[in-house]
Amino acid sequence: MRRRLLMALLCFIMALSVAPGLAQDATPVATPVSPTTGASGIGDPYYPELGNGGYQVEHYTLDLDLDIDAGSINTATASLDAVALQVLTIFNLDYRGPEIDQVTVDGAAAEFSREDQELVIEPAQLLEAGASFTVAVTYHGMPGGGDSMFTRGWWTTDTSIFALGEPSGSEAWYPVNGHPLDKASYTMRITVPKPNAAVANGTLTDVTSTATTTTYTWEASDEMASYLVTFHAGPLVVERQTGPDGLPIINAYPPNITPDEREQFARVPEMIEHFETLFGPYPFASFGNTVVDEDFPAALETQTMVIYGRPAVSETVVAHELAHQWFGNSVSLERWQDIWLNEGFATYAQTLWDEYLDGPEILDVVDQQVCTALDAAEAGGAGGQIQIGDPGPDRLLDFAVYGRGALTLHALRLQLGDDTFFDILREWNERYSHGHASTGEFITLAEELSGAELDQFFDVWLFNAPSAGLELIGDLAAACDE
Ligand SMILES: [Zn+2]
Repeated sequence: MRRRLLMALLCFIMALSVAPGLAQDATPVATPVSPTTGASGIGDPYYPELGNGGYQVEHYTLDLDLDIDAGSINTATASLDAVALQVLTIFNLDYRGPEIDQVTVDGAAAEFSREDQELVIEPAQLLEAGASFTVAVTYHGMPGGGDSMFTRGWWTTDTSIFALGEPSGSEAWYPVNGHPLDKASYTMRITVPKPNAAVANGTLTDVTSTATTTTYTWEASDEMASYLVTFHAGPLVVERQTGPDGLPIINAYPPNITPDEREQFARVPEMIEHFETLFGPYPFASFGNTVVDEDFPAALETQTMVIYGRPAVSETVVAHELAHQWFGNSVSLERWQDIWLNEGFATYAQTLWDEYLDGPEILDVVDQQVCTALDAAEAGGAGGQIQIGDPGPDRLLDFAVYGRGALTLHALRLQLGDDTFFDILREWNERYSHGHASTGEFITLAEELSGAELDQFFDVWLFNAPSAGLELIGDLAAACDE
């Protein structure tokens, strides 16, 4: 067996501490503190301060002039085109970045103050409900997001700068409505000293130069959650591939990339083509991968430009991060509690790629893992394992979310059969493309397309209910009767 279900280096592996889960079942709803004050959080029970209420951002334009040697920002302006959802005299952005020089709203200077991760803005003129407005924040200096991979956001090496942080790294380097409920399109204009280059989400639309600098403009026209926003600036070796239907693919590597590392990306066009047969059309106008010259064993599915630490470069991780473009990026979480909808699906996609390469016999070991898990759940629950349907904020990216999430999907496939199972995955991406969905909506869709009653099934797999009495049908019954 060359590969196994649970073998891979996965997104953001880190030391995690135990915390109680918060059993909540509602879509987040922001609660304002006064009728004309935007709420300081969007209402996610795991992260009450993430995102903000009272407005919705349509588009971000980030102008970044970078000092790569210092690892800092010479000057930056973030312009947010937004719509007020209520009358606003005060509203917040999420921001933990360096010193602010000026804030304007519709071109007029605005009062502002900072407290922890909140940037509180008081426009000169009241904003009417439904009004479009532009807030521009100019800032400079060295972002410092701390040591946690959850929140750090801004990373530097001796020769490069790059951005990643799930769920909340972005506010370390630009002001943002930082929750997946408020997705937006982006323009990034990144100025770097020659001879450096910069890649980012979306497609490269313009390159201009002065005697000493180059400015790269990247347009991400499909809306994107803020934790998926990235760039990588430094000395880059660029490789182009072409995917299905002419899909442009750009891979950007550090100059000392090895042939073996590059080889891990060679099958990306074929991988996209295969996943399209399983999940439906690739959801974006471009794809790419960038390797940073840093030794962390992690990758993040940053939208259309996946970012990898060097130890994470392997074909199976490429499959995982590519699958996230459907699961997590196009179909986003409504609340962070439903993280298994991202990680369980992307982890299972690694198995699906192995099945494509090596044939269906590789599934025998996964069948066995499903049956073993059901046996363990017979008497009562999952032996102290976290509930992957409600892992708690401090165990958001626990291994169980990945592994048991993938097993949940394989069990569902065995229970319903291949035709129905893959119909569900394709319909999921069709129905919720470039939007949001929840665990409840996935269960509803699975029941709708299968005609089966699946509440108890998902209670066992996602919430550790005892499996006693669970009716096993189809291939699941056959596999677990042996
Ligand atoms: Zn992942």
